[in-house]
Amino acid sequence: MSTLVLAELDGPQLAPSLGAVVAAAHGLGEPVVVLVAGGPGSESAAQAAATLHGVSQVMLAEGEAHAHGLAEPLADQVMVAMKEGGHRALVAAASSQGKNVLPRVAALLDVGMVSDVTAVLAPDTFERPIYAGNVVATVQTTDAIRVLTVRPTSFEASGLARADGPAPMERVACVASSAQSRFVSEDKAVSDRPELASATVVVSGGRGLGSAEQYQALLMPLADKLGAALGASRAAVDAGYAPNDCQVGQTGKVVAPQLYIAVGMSGAIQHLAGMKGSKVIVAINKDPDAPIFQVADYGLVADLFEAVPELTRQLP
Ligand code: FAD
Repeated sequence: MSTLVLAELDGPQLAPSLGAVVAAAHGLGEPVVVLVAGGPGSESAAQAAATLHGVSQVMLAEGEAHAHGLAEPLADQVMVAMKEGGHRALVAAASSQGKNVLPRVAALLDVGMVSDVTAVLAPDTFERPIYAGNVVATVQTTDAIRVLTVRPTSFEASGLARADGPAPMERVACVASSAQSRFVSEDKAVSDRPELASATVVVSGGRGLGSAEQYQALLMPLADKLGAALGASRAAVDAGYAPNDCQVGQTGKVVAPQLYIAVGMSGAIQHLAGMKGSKVIVAINKDPDAPIFQVADYGLVADLFEAVPELTRQLP
């Protein structure tokens, strides 16, 4: 018996979350098989997956059908792998792809699914946050096959390479798509900055910045010096200070960087749900009673229009 992990690709490369997903899957106590389903040129991603500690086999489905990560062909591919491999569990990152594909597979398998798992307590028992992270629920599943999305930021990536060389890799045929969807085009934001969800430093701005121009003028130089990703509160996104994909929180991205700098944001529970797992939190707010200071490791009660440029100046 084994656990199947659905790898996520970013173009032809593995998304950085795979190590943490494998670590979570390992907690189920069975050998971990990774399925890499991607477009032409995905073999290097499969080879990289095969070197990860804790992976016992990699399956590669390489073909045009998976070039754009459409959910329907991916779900069909996973179904075939589940049936042929007799896997007892399926695990993927709680990312857009995982949230898109795994519920389909769970429905096709006629089992329930457990989403946003933050800890594996036993092979059938998991922790997951509810009520915007204010309550941690312990969930036990009675299904014969377990389908889980896990939050990569909650698991320590299995960083070490396999001691005995790469795991064996097997090519499998791409499953013919049911053609319920087709790729038309994509419009990707191109940025030199690290990806928000996996960045080690995040500089995040809230409504206190007052405008898109001030968000950019104050936060970008600071983020540049720190090599940080830019984040934002929902209020800042709704006001047009920052693009949608910068939103951190319950209805945005969940981040857990080494350093999270929260500038001009109050620390609403819906925002905290997306960043309170950060290792070190720095808050700059002029209101000493702002709730953000309750989770901050370092708090600066100051006017951000003075404090942020000064902080940026002081940094090497
Ligand atoms: P505010 O709460 O208005 O805070 C602005 C802060 O800036 C204040 O604390 C103020 O003291 C400070 N400030 C102002 N001027 C200065 C200055 N010159 N110097 C220093 N500090 C200053 N929010 C999210 O962020 N992410 C989510 O995913 C999210 N999901 C939600 C889902 C639901 C269902 C709901 C109902 C809400 C959600 N929200 C989310 C919204 C959330 O409730 C808050 O409204 C939002 O987070 C507030 O953003 P903010 O902290 O930037 O703004």
